[in-house]
Amino acid sequence: MLNNDHPIESIPAFVLGALDADEAARVAAHLAACPSCRAEAESFRTVVGMLPYAAGAAEPPARVKRQLFARIAATSAESAVPAAPERPVTPPSHSAKPVRWAVPVMALSLALALGFGAATFEARAQADRLAMELATSRQTLGLVETQLAESRQSGAEVAARLMASQQQLAHTQAQLAESQREVLALQEAGQQGEQFVSFIAAPQTVSRTLGTTGQAPDKASARVFMQPGHNRLVVLIHGLHTAEPGKVYRLWLARDNQAVAIGTITVDEDGIAELAVDAPEPMDTYDQVMITLDAMDMTTRPSDEVIFEANL
Ligand SMILES: [Zn+2]
Repeated sequence: MLNNDHPIESIPAFVLGALDADEAARVAAHLAACPSCRAEAESFRTVVGMLPYAAGAAEPPARVKRQLFARIAATSAESAVPAAPERPVTPPSHSAKPVRWAVPVMALSLALALGFGAATFEARAQADRLAMELATSRQTLGLVETQLAESRQSGAEVAARLMASQQQLAHTQAQLAESQREVLALQEAGQQGEQFVSFIAAPQTVSRTLGTTGQAPDKASARVFMQPGHNRLVVLIHGLHTAEPGKVYRLWLARDNQAVAIGTITVDEDGIAELAVDAPEPMDTYDQVMITLDAMDMTTRPSDEVIFEANL
């Protein structure tokens, strides 16, 4: 206290509850006995009560309040000097300085400081909470983004694998179809081979070797197999060249000088050809068989290029 008789300097802090317990008790005792100081405290309470900041303000530690108050008091006491004459005469014993007038100013400053301080604390706490929420939100966002990126990457990998699997599947299906065709071809060839063999080996089958013409290769030979009363005709050929482009070996049957195209013959790389066909009529109704090298589209009558021929 600056004044030993009247605790003027301590009254604002007393009203604001900023004094230590023992000092507060001392001020309270003085106020009870001193109407002048009591009036001062009342006037200060009025000022404080008018300040919106004073109500509900956060309570900083008493030590902080006192330091703040002391700082404000020191400043206000100086700046308040010119205003002193406007106030009622101060009892000389109260102070050598115009502290009495300075008190409301100090109180206002202190209350504002405390109020703003509280508002600042509040704002800072709010800011801290928001910052924490923002940090949490950022973390969540980062996590989601990471998961999304992983999902995208995973999705792309899955799509790539799916595409590869689909390509593999299509490839496998194509291979399977090819295999099925090969199997069917082999089965057909097998059946055909069996038919050849069983037909040729049948006891009622008769065979005839065809004669070669001057247009046949030297070692060419052809043989036909047939059964009386049946339409089936089997032809086996060896030593024949493959037909030149645009031409084809064709099998003819003739009777009464009328030739009928029965089928075409494909010679393989080894010079071998085999053909099994059914003639329009039983084989014993025909009197001639002939194999010619014809133009591809020549089907109405045999060309002059006769390779094999025989009378039946
Ligand atoms: Zn007093």
